[in-house]
Amino acid sequence: MRPTDAPLDNLLGATRKGLCLVLSAPSGAGKSTLVARLRAEFPGFAYSISCTTRAPRVGEENGVQYHFLSREDFLAKRDAGFFAEWAEVHGNFYGTPKGPVEDMLARGRDMLFDIDVQGALQLREVFPQALYVFILPPSREVLERRLRGRGTDSEEVIARRMKNALGELEQAGSFDYHIINDDIEEAADELRAVYVAGRARAICRPGVVAGLLAQWKEKA
Ligand code: ADP
Ligand code: 5GP
Repeated sequence: MRPTDAPLDNLLGATRKGLCLVLSAPSGAGKSTLVARLRAEFPGFAYSISCTTRAPRVGEENGVQYHFLSREDFLAKRDAGFFAEWAEVHGNFYGTPKGPVEDMLARGRDMLFDIDVQGALQLREVFPQALYVFILPPSREVLERRLRGRGTDSEEVIARRMKNALGELEQAGSFDYHIINDDIEEAADELRAVYVAGRARAICRPGVVAGLLAQWKEKA
C-alpha cells in the first residue's frame, strides 16, 4: 500500500489534507508497541515529538523519542502558548509542540500522536477532525502483568500506573474508537483499518472531486 495518497491527489490537482491519528491508553496497554508497528508499516507518517520533563530512559535520545526539557523551560514554553496541549502525567509534564503539527498538516502529511487521555481530550478542542483511538487492555490482570513484564518500572510506579488506569478508562467513552489489545495482530489490524478508512474521508481529500469534474469539463 502506498504510504500516502500524494500521487493520486497531485494527479487531480488537489491539495491533500493531513490526517491526525491520536492514540491514548492506560500505561502498559500496548500503545508504544502498536505505534511502532504502524510507523514501520506507513513510513510516510509524521510523528509528533513531545516535550517532557521526565528523564530520558536508557537508549532514548533528545529530539528522537522526546525533547527533554527542564521543568523551568517546559513551564516557560507552556506559558508562551508553545503547546497544542499539555498535561502532567505520572508526575512529569508532557506537551505537544503546536508549530510542527500545523506545518506537517499543511504539507499534507498524516500525523500520529501518542499522548495521554487528558491531552487527547484537550487536543480534541484544537483538532476536532482528528481520529481519537483508545487502546484497551483485555483485563486488569493482563495490564498489571504487562507493566511488570516490561521490566522498566518499579513496583511503586506500577501501582501508581494501575491506579491512574481507572481514571483513564473512565474517559474512554470520549474516544471515537476502542481497540482491545489482546492479540497483537488483531489489534494492529484494527488500528490499520481505522487509519486507512480515515484517509479516505472526504475532508482529507479536498479538491479531488473538483479535479475529476474539471477533467469532464475539459472534454465537453
Ligand atoms: P504502553 O506504551 O501502552 O505503555 P507497551 O507497548 O510498552 O505499552 O506494552 C507493555 C508491555 O506489554 C510490553 O512489554 C509489550 O511488549 C507487551 N505487549 C504489548 N502488546 C501485547 C500483546 N498484545 N500481547 C502480549 N504482550 C503485549
Ligand atoms: P512515557 O513517559 O512512558 O514515555 O509516557 C507516559 C505517558 O505520557 C504516556 O501515556 C504518553 O502517551 C504520554 N505522553 C507522551 N507525550 C505526551 C504529550 O505530548 N502530551 C500528553 N498529554 N501526554 C503525552
